[in-house]
Amino acid sequence: MKALEAYKKCLTEIATLGSALSILSWDQQTNMPKKGIAARSQVAGKLSKMAFELSVSDELGRYIEDLESQPDLSEIEKASVARVGKEYRRHKAIPPEVVEELTITRSQAQSAWVKAREASDFSQFEPLLAKMVSFQQRFAEYFGYEEHPYDALLEGFEPGLTVKKLKGIIEPLRKETVPFLKRLMAEGTAPDTSILDGSFDIDAQRALTREALELITYDFDAGNLSDVAHPFTITIAPGDVRVTNRYLEKEIFPGLFGALHEGGHALYNQGMPEELFYLELANGSSNGIHESQSRMIENLIGRSLPFWTYFQPQMAKHFPQFASTSPEALFGAANVVRPSLIRVEADEVTYNFHIMVRFELERGLIDGSVRVADLPRLWNEAMEEYVGVVPPNDALGVLQDVHWSMGMFGYFPSYMLGNLYAAQLYTSIREAIPSLDDQIQSGNLRPLVEWLRENVHRHGGVYEPDELMQRITGSSLDSSHYVRYVVDKYSDIYAL
Ligand code: ZN
Repeated sequence: MKALEAYKKCLTEIATLGSALSILSWDQQTNMPKKGIAARSQVAGKLSKMAFELSVSDELGRYIEDLESQPDLSEIEKASVARVGKEYRRHKAIPPEVVEELTITRSQAQSAWVKAREASDFSQFEPLLAKMVSFQQRFAEYFGYEEHPYDALLEGFEPGLTVKKLKGIIEPLRKETVPFLKRLMAEGTAPDTSILDGSFDIDAQRALTREALELITYDFDAGNLSDVAHPFTITIAPGDVRVTNRYLEKEIFPGLFGALHEGGHALYNQGMPEELFYLELANGSSNGIHESQSRMIENLIGRSLPFWTYFQPQMAKHFPQFASTSPEALFGAANVVRPSLIRVEADEVTYNFHIMVRFELERGLIDGSVRVADLPRLWNEAMEEYVGVVPPNDALGVLQDVHWSMGMFGYFPSYMLGNLYAAQLYTSIREAIPSLDDQIQSGNLRPLVEWLRENVHRHGGVYEPDELMQRITGSSLDSSHYVRYVVDKYSDIYAL
């Protein structure tokens, strides 16, 4: 099997360059002095170019073609060839001159977006956004699709997902949770958050975060925790999956929950067998499945009463002001629902609405039914309908996310899917581990993580999301699990 060997050798080279790029990027965001940026960009640019050329090389194309007709590959090898082949064809579908044009336009769009957001003036971003949209429309044609051009873009983030399927997932979710939010706000009693007032030493927060990561079984011998402005998790190589975090002096929760979120992503990568890394299967099943792992740890575990029953004494150890605060009070304060303008600050009840707004607008932009010039107005109308708040300006509205300026159309739904996948997986976990709450309450997360390892992590990107969900839960993604989770949890907290 010459082709297989050559194929693996080529992917190993790409992965090795990827490792070098990841460590450069991690260093740039955590440790690098400001003045290092010019030289660093040169090095990163050179390595990226080498990796990109390998990934679109004619040789790789030939190996893929050869292997696609090989009947005796292992399941993992087959999955690798399928993923890499798909990605290869998407790359090849775009003419090189268009790629070049996009690179230039994208950097203009990003700087226009930064300026427009600072000035809170959409009109400064509008012409470049229109160009970015037209690129995506062309890409959809290059990639091909059956029903809706947006399907071609979704495929890049969530394999197998289409507008039609997404509508089927969103519709019942919207129908149940929009009225639930209204009821919660009108009739519910919000938890007391005054216990969170105060100042929180950053070193103590770092120590607390470390304990939280140890609790979820994050392996520090195969990882690292550093400070950063915008938290992320990065897989450098097998045995090296790093988490970064940010702390606020005046707020204790963003640092803690941010770390639990990133820790959930990191567990996924720490739980994958080494061979997947060298077969381009280490990015997980999809963006949405990756996000399900972070949301599960952050929300389903981290914002649960059993977690706080265990964690309150840990908090009190580092922050004596919580010594006489009950676990119930901390649990309540961690679960306040507050319809807000900003997606990244949204709670579990309102988060998905922010995504629904973006999904409707993106889909319309790509199929031409929404004009770029109308976006600020349509954004505000949709926010009022779903979340019940209207942005007072563009910066707090249509200009808040970086994604469109980078050409990431079709990415937003993954965030919502992460919540929904997590809830559905959690239903299965509860069935498999009846004593789950007791274990969490006693600080033992091993059984949970072992379940995730066995069912989700170790497969990496071997299965596409729908197949993975079918194998684990017996059915495709179904938003009723999330609806039940949210309605039960918040009815209780808000005493409905
Ligand atoms: Zn995430």
